[in-house]
Amino acid sequence: MNDRKTLQDVIDSGMCVGCGACVAADPSLSLRFDDLRQTWQPDGPGSEAAADVCPAIQVDFPALHAAVFPGAEVTQFGVVHRVMLAQSVDRDRNLRASSGGLIKELLQHYLEEEHVDGVIALDHIQGTLFQPALLRTPEEVDALPGSIYHINPLDKALKILAENEGRFVVVGIPCQLEGMLSYIHRQAPHLAPRVHATVGLLCGWLYNHHALRAVCRYKGVDYDAIEDIAYRGGGPVGKLRIQTPAKSVAVSRRVDFAYQVAFDRSFNIPRCHTCVNHGNYLADIVVGDAWLPSTVFTKTGISLLIIRKAAAADVVDRLAARGRIVCSTVSVQEIEESQKRRVVFGDFAYAYLDYLRAIGEHAPDMEGPNRPAARLRPRAEVETFHRELQRKRALQQQRKYRTLWLRKATIELPRLLHRYLDWFLVRILRVKSYAEERKELDKDKIAMFK
Ligand SMILES: Cc1cc2nc3c(=O)[nH]c(=O)nc-3n(C[C@H](O)[C@H](O)[C@H](O)COP(=O)(O)OP(=O)(O)OC[C@H]3O[C@@H](n4cnc5c(N)ncnc54)[C@H](O)[C@@H]3O)c2cc1C
Ligand code: SF4
Ligand code: SF4
Repeated sequence: MNDRKTLQDVIDSGMCVGCGACVAADPSLSLRFDDLRQTWQPDGPGSEAAADVCPAIQVDFPALHAAVFPGAEVTQFGVVHRVMLAQSVDRDRNLRASSGGLIKELLQHYLEEEHVDGVIALDHIQGTLFQPALLRTPEEVDALPGSIYHINPLDKALKILAENEGRFVVVGIPCQLEGMLSYIHRQAPHLAPRVHATVGLLCGWLYNHHALRAVCRYKGVDYDAIEDIAYRGGGPVGKLRIQTPAKSVAVSRRVDFAYQVAFDRSFNIPRCHTCVNHGNYLADIVVGDAWLPSTVFTKTGISLLIIRKAAAADVVDRLAARGRIVCSTVSVQEIEESQKRRVVFGDFAYAYLDYLRAIGEHAPDMEGPNRPAARLRPRAEVETFHRELQRKRALQQQRKYRTLWLRKATIELPRLLHRYLDWFLVRILRVKSYAEERKELDKDKIAMFK
């Protein structure tokens, strides 16, 4: 049974996502870096008010849907107004960005044309530290980072919202918006009108800093000397780039073996394995990568947009009318094709949540709109995963990164090769399309993209 009165279970289980909702609800708390787990978490169990808004304890999707999208139909993909593929026509911006450069186009448009008072988005502070910042002018937008895949403290987003009057656009990953909107709708409704719009990221996972330490160890880089870091840019997949005063390394995220070891899913923060909201159900507009066989030709990246509100669809239409982006409307099927069932419907996450409860471990209480569509993975698979995860986490916490490298090169190698083969057959050779197991997009849906 979860202790819903404090954050103690969250601290003990390491389930914190760093959203900062608890800090807003209980100002005696702050987020601190946990050296053993290499993640962020609150510095104490806090009050009942903090536990009440923590997405690592519970997320009330029905109540949040009713508050954010009153009267809207909720499908197994959440509230969906329109699904689109889109790309910035500014080739350099698109190349620098993670997918199609849509977030930066949207943010500049909100600041230039929609008269918002600012944008709250993750910005680089120093070293490996990124935190939410307030941007007031369109010129500041291009300096924002691309996707940052390691955990950071996000409490400043709510602080900025509380300290500034006006209408703001907030950029956030799903669990960040879960915490933020739970806090606003349960405890601070006066902040709701300050959120003019939310631009969400689709989110598959976030990594602890052991992942960074491990990749640094494999590449001979001093983790403590990191000045800057980027995971994307320079093409649809992009490279991990780490900058220190002594050297700069670029690591292929697709083929580099060291990257595959260090960014193995065992390095994810624990809550990601239980996450049922990769598709960001609470954001007005969600931006992800269009990982479709039909879009594999792109040299710069194409974004998948899940637009959940009519007002957000109007913004995208106005952006297209200004000639800043090219886009085409596709079906909800493309969400599943792009992201896989496990991500969209939580086949593994719901099974893992059940398992954690069954063995008496802390599990967040949440049922997303995808729950009826989930086909739960077998208990044996979940048990094996859990056992292996415990072993690998112990090795991480002892900083035995070489042992993890050896595991991947030996007992885990067949699994890794299978993943590559699957990717090559489905995405590059398109065997499923030729076998008519899936339908490719019509040419007129993709002809406008580069
Ligand atoms: C942790 C994480 C996991 C992701 N997983 C997937 C996935 O599995 N599938 C998929 O299709 N897409 C995923 N994405 C989204 C994808 O990587 C791109 O961010 C998205 O397509 C937007 O690309 P863009 O070119 O429009 O934006 P970009 O120009 O790259 O802008 C990124 C924006 O997001 C903000 N941001 C970056 N990192 C974070 C963060 N950690 N927390 C909060 N805000 C942040 C930045 O401030 C910036 O405004 C993930 C993103 C993140 C951050
Ligand atoms: S998940 Fe968010 S609300 Fe919960 S403990 Fe972590 S920072 Fe606080
Ligand atoms: S996968 Fe889910 S829990 Fe993990 S960072 Fe993304 S939204 Fe948060």
